[in-house]
Amino acid sequence: MYINNVKFARSAQKLSGEINLGAVARIQEIGEFQGVVKYTLQGEVDRLNRPALVLSIYGIISALCQNCLHPLDILIENQTQITIFFNEDQLDAALFSESESDVIDGVLAEDEFDVVQLVEDEVIILLPCAAKHDSCIGLSYHDKVESPFNVLKQII
Ligand SMILES: [Zn+2]
Repeated sequence: MYINNVKFARSAQKLSGEINLGAVARIQEIGEFQGVVKYTLQGEVDRLNRPALVLSIYGIISALCQNCLHPLDILIENQTQITIFFNEDQLDAALFSESESDVIDGVLAEDEFDVVQLVEDEVIILLPCAAKHDSCIGLSYHDKVESPFNVLKQII
């Protein structure tokens, strides 16, 4: 889905949708993440009169515990503000300058800004690099009859 992000922000538009992680190739390359993430994008103008997007995402994702190879659910919930800049210099200055900046995240102004891409990027940042049960004590913790190799076969 594409929006003119400046127009969207200045007119305080809002849109919602969801993405199915199983269908996103670059997420599947990271790991066995399944589930649906819902998102809401809200346009606004910040106190410095800059256009901005507020992205909220929420989902319960199924992953594989890297310790015991059994499934576990991960809650992903986040809200972030993304400021829109009109050129790279402004964007770089806001994101990477030594001086204090109130900018959390930034993008460039675009007529055809890819919303799904933005949501996917945000999900990838929030995914754990090594998902694990909170109190996982390894393979013996679960059904001993099932060897990790059988579990692997099911995955493949
Ligand atoms: Zn585990």
